[in-house]
Amino acid sequence: MRHRRSVNDEMSCKELVELVTRYLEQTLRPTDRVRFEVHVQDCSGCAEIIEQMRGTLTAAGGLTKEPLDADARARLIGAFREWRNGR
Ligand SMILES: [Zn+2]
Repeated sequence: MRHRRSVNDEMSCKELVELVTRYLEQTLRPTDRVRFEVHVQDCSGCAEIIEQMRGTLTAAGGLTKEPLDADARARLIGAFREWRNGR
């Protein structure tokens, strides 16, 4: 039984995808950041997504300027769903 709420709480892949832009923009709360990084260490799929996302944001110049626009976010979530369905 695991009822502890702590930074060790497992973050779901879905939750991670929702936070990935904030992670890359470094606006994540420290607690979420730790949970995020713990998840990525155990989840190569999410690690791939983050790398893709980093590329997308860098290409769009989004990392240093505006937050990710809704369009790019939708594409990310679409890519993530494809990844899940493909395994
Ligand atoms: Zn994951």
